[in-house]
Amino acid sequence: MKKIISVGAGDYIGQEVMLEAIKVLNKIAKKFNHEFEFENVFVGGASIDEFGVPLHKSQMEIINNSDALLFGSIGGPKWDNVDSNIRPEKGILELRKNLGTFANLRPVKIFDDLVEASTIKKDIVKGTDLVVVRELTGGIYFGKRETGVDQIGQRYAIDSMKYTEKEIKRIARVAFEVANKRRKKICSVDKENVLDVSKLWRKVVEEVSVEYPDVELSHMYVDNAAMQLILNPSQFDVILTGNMFGDILSDTASVLGGSLGMLASASMGEKGNVAMYEPSGGSAPDIAGKGIANPIAQILSASMMLDISFDMKEESEAIIDAIDATIKTYRTPDIYTEGAIKVTTKQMGDFISKNI
Ligand code: NAD
Repeated sequence: MKKIISVGAGDYIGQEVMLEAIKVLNKIAKKFNHEFEFENVFVGGASIDEFGVPLHKSQMEIINNSDALLFGSIGGPKWDNVDSNIRPEKGILELRKNLGTFANLRPVKIFDDLVEASTIKKDIVKGTDLVVVRELTGGIYFGKRETGVDQIGQRYAIDSMKYTEKEIKRIARVAFEVANKRRKKICSVDKENVLDVSKLWRKVVEEVSVEYPDVELSHMYVDNAAMQLILNPSQFDVILTGNMFGDILSDTASVLGGSLGMLASASMGEKGNVAMYEPSGGSAPDIAGKGIANPIAQILSASMMLDISFDMKEESEAIIDAIDATIKTYRTPDIYTEGAIKVTTKQMGDFISKNI
């Protein structure tokens, strides 16, 4: 199969870890007889240096003509003093707007050999393999807002939460599709005992579930979900939730694994739109140029891209298996535990590639 992949490595460690993801993709192409064509695009600080803006329309054109966008990380001290309208991070917001990404997927898989790297007891995190599916463009972050002073002179502020049936349906369908390819369990998280938005959310998710008879649906209040993620994370397969609850829960889930260097993510819009795959962490300027960044988050982002955008399940799993085999022995410093062999970013990419 031939696929065109736009590659926006971005800034600082983005450049270093992307090299390793490309190396792994080239190995996959060779082994499974695919042709991957890579189109480099400037994003974030790199784009400010090249075009004076964090995302230039010429680059957006390249992205729109590709089959998926593999994104690195952007930003860093080099651009701390640029005009606030052209900060590197604006590039991501513009990308999301242009690609219409309303769904954010954050998988958290704890590899058996890394249970020691978690701050949570190993008996609890062992076996964790979940995905948070978060609605990204609706809810309280995008609702009507107001600030003012009331009749008795007190300052007040209002943020309102709104979801339409259509918005709930489309994110629910993403979650059900994801669950269908996994262990077929969805836990929809809301605050139905208090919020009308959650009452509608629950009803619509129930309605969508009829289209997916093989997927088991349960509901959980958000406060309980936050506790359960720490008490018993392995009970979850897919967590479906709205924008604000998803913001909090995906960050809670992300610490289970111990390092940002292990966490991938995907942002996607309607079927047919280009989806974007990227590490959950940032450009880590504190470790850039030292050869110690963990490339696994970037490599796992590539694995998600193969599975979700290209329907290459076997190829995607081959990457995960190769990571699993590699980290039994070799570790970058962020996931190092006693007995392992410390390796550089490049060596990690080499070993994973070799293990495919
Ligand atoms: P960060 O995620 O870059 O780093 C936080 C900590 O995690 C650092 O100690 C870093 O060394 C470590 N870390 C991150 N990725 C790692 C990896 N692959 N291997 C090993 N260690 C890793 O967050 P920050 O320091 O707050 O932000 C740095 C820059 O990144 C800022 O300019 C910020 O705006 C930007 N940022 C970009 C994105 C993005 O591109 N999506 C996301 C978050 C932050």
